[in-house]
Amino acid sequence: MSKTSQQLFERAQKVMPGGVNSPVRAFKSVGLTPKFIDKAKGNKIYDIEGNEYLDYVGSWGPMILGHADPKVVQAVQCRVEKGLSFGACTELEVELAELITSNIQHIDMIRMVNSGTEAVMSALRLARGYTKKNKIIKFEGCYHGHSDAMLVKAGSGAMTFGDPDSAGVTKGAAEDTLLARYNDLNSVEALMKENKEDVACVIVEATAANMGVVPAAAGFLAGLRSLCDQYGALLIFDEVITGFRLAFGGAAAYFGVMPDLVTYGKIIGGGMPVGAYGGRREIMENVSPMGSVYQAGTLSGNPIAMTAGIETLKQLLSEPEIYDRINEMGAYLADGLRRISGFTVNNIGSLVCMFYTKEPVADYDSACKSDTVGFSHVFRELLAEGIYVAPSQYEAMFLNTAFTKEELNFTIETYRKILTR
Ligand SMILES: *Cc1c(COP(=O)(O)O)cnc(C)c1O
Repeated sequence: MSKTSQQLFERAQKVMPGGVNSPVRAFKSVGLTPKFIDKAKGNKIYDIEGNEYLDYVGSWGPMILGHADPKVVQAVQCRVEKGLSFGACTELEVELAELITSNIQHIDMIRMVNSGTEAVMSALRLARGYTKKNKIIKFEGCYHGHSDAMLVKAGSGAMTFGDPDSAGVTKGAAEDTLLARYNDLNSVEALMKENKEDVACVIVEATAANMGVVPAAAGFLAGLRSLCDQYGALLIFDEVITGFRLAFGGAAAYFGVMPDLVTYGKIIGGGMPVGAYGGRREIMENVSPMGSVYQAGTLSGNPIAMTAGIETLKQLLSEPEIYDRINEMGAYLADGLRRISGFTVNNIGSLVCMFYTKEPVADYDSACKSDTVGFSHVFRELLAEGIYVAPSQYEAMFLNTAFTKEELNFTIETYRKILTR
């Protein structure tokens, strides 16, 4: 008998918490049963019932070349024959590292890990080890994976010591995490002053894409750069979403502001589980076995994962016009959605987010003004019309090279139809 998503979800819930391996997938906030996916190609994704959707999630960012890109798939297929993992050095690791360091000015050395979470966790340890300082400044509404120190956001919007956002995170794990307001340099400066000698780093999504899309305001990143220099803290750009997406050199290249360390995930693995952290040589030299900051991984630099990453990045390097194309598509979709809805639609490059509010959105508090009930209503109708967006207001729409103007027009028109019903 053919299975349905409903049947599978019932089975899944008995053996996996919430039926999923990552919470947003459960479709809880939109009150639906999640679609179980069978396959995907280009910008289309197919559930196990055989329904086709126009996919604006793209595995949450990695699929910038579209799903099942022929070159990536072929390279992976060839590589699989040679064995899946050795836990030893391979040429592929060197190749991926060289592709990045030789094309991104601010990265001299890089270390591969297995996820964005792991990249961030390791970069923070390195920043603390290098500066010999303890505190970390992060911004409300920025997501940096699920390591303990990063699971804090604002309690009351006041800039206080962080309170854990999740059960199981001790006060101790979170108390060195200081919270600032996105796009608000004064809030950062105040924390720097208060904790003068002890801020190891500022970590920031150089365009926030986990509270919806909230681009850095003019001067914000440059201001962070100077504050970090002034107070002897490292500047870390979390480029897990923006890296290789806004430009090959990520948000740093896009905005022309150089961080000390960068974290990667998502696109760097071309759909396989890869993360990485990298930056200036004298900082990276502190990582074990060269230096005293320990960090390791049994499957880090996995040959299959490296292959998918290499093939993806190679294509992005050899066809730089890809960025012009997807960025133009991003602006086109944003303009269209703005026109038909009157809502605030934030866009940068190939990232788009329609907020269900008419107020401008520049930080966490303004993002929270969005009508999430309105969102979930539209989400359900979009899905029924064959358009698959992330099941949360606070996620981006991700474009990839497979999208056409016609599909964007269809999307805009479908939104219009739903919003005027
Ligand atoms: C997705 C994401 C992470 C976490 O990466 P995982 O691979 O899910 O662990 C970290 N930072 C940002 C900005 C992200 O978008």
